[in-house]
Amino acid sequence: MQAVTTLNGSSLVNPDAVLEKLRDIAKNELAPLAGRIDQQGFYPVDTMRALGGAGAFSAHLDRYGQRFDLALSAMQTVSRYCGSTGFITWCQDVCGLYMEQSENSHLLSRLDSQAFAKTLGGTGLSNPMKSLTGIEAMALHATKSPRGYRVSGTLPWVSNIASGQYFAAVAAVKDDKSKASHEIFFLIDIRDRVKLNKCPKFSGMEGTSTWGVTLDNYEVDETNIIADPAQPFIKRIRPAFVLLQMGWGFGVIEGAIASCWEVENSLGHVNQYLHNRPSQLEDELAELRERVMLLARDPYCGDKHHVINVLDARAQTSELALKASESALLHQGARGYLMDSDPQRRVREAHFVAIVTPAIKHLRWEISKLMSENMPA
Ligand SMILES: Cc1cc2nc3c(=O)[nH]c(=O)nc-3n(C[C@H](O)[C@H](O)[C@H](O)COP(=O)(O)OP(=O)(O)OC[C@H]3O[C@@H](n4cnc5c(N)ncnc54)[C@H](O)[C@@H]3O)c2cc1C
Repeated sequence: MQAVTTLNGSSLVNPDAVLEKLRDIAKNELAPLAGRIDQQGFYPVDTMRALGGAGAFSAHLDRYGQRFDLALSAMQTVSRYCGSTGFITWCQDVCGLYMEQSENSHLLSRLDSQAFAKTLGGTGLSNPMKSLTGIEAMALHATKSPRGYRVSGTLPWVSNIASGQYFAAVAAVKDDKSKASHEIFFLIDIRDRVKLNKCPKFSGMEGTSTWGVTLDNYEVDETNIIADPAQPFIKRIRPAFVLLQMGWGFGVIEGAIASCWEVENSLGHVNQYLHNRPSQLEDELAELRERVMLLARDPYCGDKHHVINVLDARAQTSELALKASESALLHQGARGYLMDSDPQRRVREAHFVAIVTPAIKHLRWEISKLMSENMPA
């Protein structure tokens, strides 16, 4: 097993110690902020830095030992206490993954800072993921320029960003006749020619620092190219991108189960008549988690059956998050119907697990497409 390296450069091979430290931060620093983050738009930058320093965003990277199991557990630990911070943990993780897999020396020189949250970065891949499979049109367009490309267009929502931060995106390259030749994948530093637009109020997840982004002839050169052409790269990283999201879903489920148990002493005598009891949800989570940890042993595997299994596990994670969060609400009754209760927040978090790209409908579209490939007509 390769060593995982901490921020101060010392070698650390003890995943239990990493998770213990993360649990401490999540339980004692993050949990008290969860309501403010979800509803009042508090972006937990300091907590993200503390989580990053403790190893929350580095374990999946090749440079730090490629331990996807540890990265998933870290994300679960954070999400157990705050689903919004769990989501931006995923954003931070995949942004680092793109930078590292790009093999671009300019981006690799920025990787330590990203991996340990000295800087924060997001991912604008929802639109290209849907566009490349035929669900919607590509939102960003590029034309060739003397230094590389100029990119324009608007993405409606990108999280974990702010002025001075950065995120990864994809644009379709068009020729003089506006015909797309291919796509480029690149990192956008949020500065000139990048406008952040305020989003409408969401029902939750308000502290994820989610913005609309408009690019006006943004210059892309070799210092920020992740992949050109983009499609082979996206195909390769897609299973890892989807796999990592499940740590976030698991945390939301674990939190919902904890809410069910919380009222067992006082309401167990009547809650025993409910469906989806916490012990049953625990079994379902354990089974799903085991499946995912097996898939996580080979995170970049492009084998069709592996990819279908990853997509299927992701859909099941969404479904279990919806079921568990609703069950937590039913178990807690009026307590859970209070606006600032944990079950209320988790219902909103679970809804987001189910609609963020890849949404359940998108996953089923992809699975059905893959399953029908090479089938006799
Ligand atoms: C809080 C939040 C954070 C998000 N963070 C990210 C992120 O970090 N990176 C990222 O790439 N994506 C992000 N998304 C987008 C998300 O992943 C989904 O793509 C989005 O929720 C739409 O999903 P859908 O596939 O169900 O499309 P549908 O809801 O079926 O919609 C179809 C298309 O219409 C667009 N659309 C719908 N309503 C509006 C609107 N009011 N204004 C503009 N366009 C609209 C959608 O974006 C989508 O492209 C975020 C969304 C939300 C709500």
